[in-house]
Amino acid sequence: KFTMEKSSCNESVQVVVRCRPLNEKENDSNCTSVVKIYPSRGVIEVENPNARSENEKNKIFTYDSVYDERSTQQNLYDETVRPLVASVLEGYNGCVFAYGQTGTGKTFTMEGADGDEKGIIPRAFEQIWAHIDRKTGVEFLVSVRYLEIYMEEIRDLLRSKSTKPHELRETNGQGVTVTNLHSQTCQSAKDMCRAMRAGNAIRTTGRTNMNEHSSRSHAIFQIVIEMAEERSKSVKIGKLSLVDLAGSERQSKTGATGDRFKEATKINKSLSSLGNVIYALAENSSHIPYRDSKLTRLLQDSLGGNSKTIMIANVGPASMNYEETIVTLRYAYRAK
Ligand code: ADP
Ligand code: MG
Repeated sequence: KFTMEKSSCNESVQVVVRCRPLNEKENDSNCTSVVKIYPSRGVIEVENPNARSENEKNKIFTYDSVYDERSTQQNLYDETVRPLVASVLEGYNGCVFAYGQTGTGKTFTMEGADGDEKGIIPRAFEQIWAHIDRKTGVEFLVSVRYLEIYMEEIRDLLRSKSTKPHELRETNGQGVTVTNLHSQTCQSAKDMCRAMRAGNAIRTTGRTNMNEHSSRSHAIFQIVIEMAEERSKSVKIGKLSLVDLAGSERQSKTGATGDRFKEATKINKSLSSLGNVIYALAENSSHIPYRDSKLTRLLQDSLGGNSKTIMIANVGPASMNYEETIVTLRYAYRAK
């Protein structure tokens, strides 16, 4: 049995695993579940369906927390994300990432569906505005940006017609900014929802194969909250970045060649550089390799320092996804 020990060096990086339920297709094809979750211990156990010997049978991983197929959107939010958003409302930066192979629930976790099934992004909107509506003596200015990174190219999801180039610029005091990126002021949670929906619509237009595209691009929703204390005139800024990452599936499986292969290497490069950055942060390393991809450069001021990061690794329970599940769990483990 190969057991991994939990290392908990850096409190500001949290790694969480979520397993979705078996879907209809998997149920119909008599797929079995190979994943067992022990929420109280933060443990996930995966059974190798092709094990030839007892000692390669089960693999066990431990994380800050684990969520099984019955976990609710509300539970995940309240336990994991709510404290991070609270610290953004105090002027810190925070990032939430959804990682995992296509079809494991990244978009479900970040955006979700209507009602009780709404995901992290709309819940963050509500938390932010509940805070603003309650708070007196502080003036708030809230704005959002929504962009995607596809093949290391940045696209503004709030301005479809813009043809101006988007480049990363280092600016004094503001970290790295994106040139020509539209920033939209919001007055309510509804405003923010509208911006998210408009961005999602732009994300899908002009795409011949939407699933293909969305599984290969990183979508980044950023909320900037400026808080001006009326009495002291001091201003604090908190920034929240909510990221639905590109699918982590490996190329060997999809058999891509040529351009498609190039695309895949770029995606994997930014995912692995994100893993390296989070790993270096968790280890309190002196060199953090932000410069290796657009994704990590863009989020540089929100990764490390006083910022908080949550990595949610999504997995599916089906035996046929065993290999990918292990790859995801290793990535997430290394990130811790
Ligand atoms: P991804 O964005 O990682 O490709 P999706 O979020 O689109 O995956 O999820 C794939 C499918 O599985 C969707 O139909 C989604 O509604 C469903 N799903 C994912 N996670 C869950 C969950 N925790 N509970 C119920 N359904 C889920
Ligand atoms: Mg998705």
